[in-house]
Amino acid sequence: MASVHIYRPAVACKSKTRAKCPDCREESIFVGFHVVWHGWDDTCLRCGRSFADGEWMELAFQRGIRSKMISRARRRWRETDAPVIKRTVVSPDDTGTEQSEGKRERAPAGAAQRSGANSTEERAAEAARTTNT
Ligand SMILES: [Zn+2]
Repeated sequence: MASVHIYRPAVACKSKTRAKCPDCREESIFVGFHVVWHGWDDTCLRCGRSFADGEWMELAFQRGIRSKMISRARRRWRETDAPVIKRTVVSPDDTGTEQSEGKRERAPAGAAQRSGANSTEERAAEAARTTNT
């Protein structure tokens, strides 16, 4: 007799990270949960926008959805029993050039390469530096 199995992967770790939100464009705190195979699910505690593994998530067309998302993230933070880890990068940059740069590490190990590089030239220079070391 087969039993009903609800697919609900466990959160491997969680993080609270300060970063500039691409949506509200302000310095904010992101609450993130990492699920194996799914990656990071981060929510901006300022505007409620969430990002799944770096991709902007759609906000439901609903009154007060942003504050709902914020309280949902806060509640999930309280209720999730997972180790807290430190990350330096949470959200994608808002330029949409992520794909054009080819394969990029998902792990936040090389996080420094992202800091403050705004123009394409800066990015290229940054990339060259990081690959040479
Ligand atoms: Zn935000």
